[in-house]
Amino acid sequence: MPNRIVLASGNPGKIREIQSILGPYRIVPQSDFDVPDIEETGTTFVENAIIKARNAAKHSGLPAIADDSGIEVDALNGAPGVRSARYSGPAADDQQNLDKLLQEMISVVDNHRNARFRCVIVYMRHAEDPCPIITEGTWEGTILRQRRGINGFGYDPIFLLPELGCTSAELAPDQKNRLSHRAQALNTLAEQLGKSRL
Ligand code: IMP
Repeated sequence: MPNRIVLASGNPGKIREIQSILGPYRIVPQSDFDVPDIEETGTTFVENAIIKARNAAKHSGLPAIADDSGIEVDALNGAPGVRSARYSGPAADDQQNLDKLLQEMISVVDNHRNARFRCVIVYMRHAEDPCPIITEGTWEGTILRQRRGINGFGYDPIFLLPELGCTSAELAPDQKNRLSHRAQALNTLAEQLGKSRL
């Protein structure tokens, strides 16, 4: 069983979160291997995660994990979806993307504002792995009309969790890391890695 897995991301928050769930493995950032960034040309979360995991495995020679995630809004037919990180343009930041979503939703009535975060995680044993492990998590909520909370990132301040009565930006980071779409996908991956023979 390999004990090092390269993560196709340099985000320290993601590394910590993934490490805490995949305890027996050592998660190393792809920057340790000078892995060049690769364009996410896929039209699905699965394709983009495979592109990133394959790139990291190829340049590191190690098994690799990549995640791809976004927010899907029912009233917008699933947009921004795979384009969540660049919703308001190729160089857009989180604030601009969130403002664009608020604008697009301005005339949508309260009971039609359902949305979900979705995360897909891909694990590839090597760059030519013909059968990657693919897991998924979703987290249901609704889109508010204005920001609430200062934790998290991205669309968290407008993502209301109706059962908890707060946004994902009002959760403490460790609470979010237990409940989120990413946590769900990671927990499923941990289970599947536990059963895997490679
Ligand atoms: P990536 O998969 O890290 O590239 O994330 C894609 C985009 O989806 C991010 O830039 C955010 O806009 C959005 N997103 C993904 N996960 C979350 C989350 O947990 N909270 C808020 N926004 C998220």
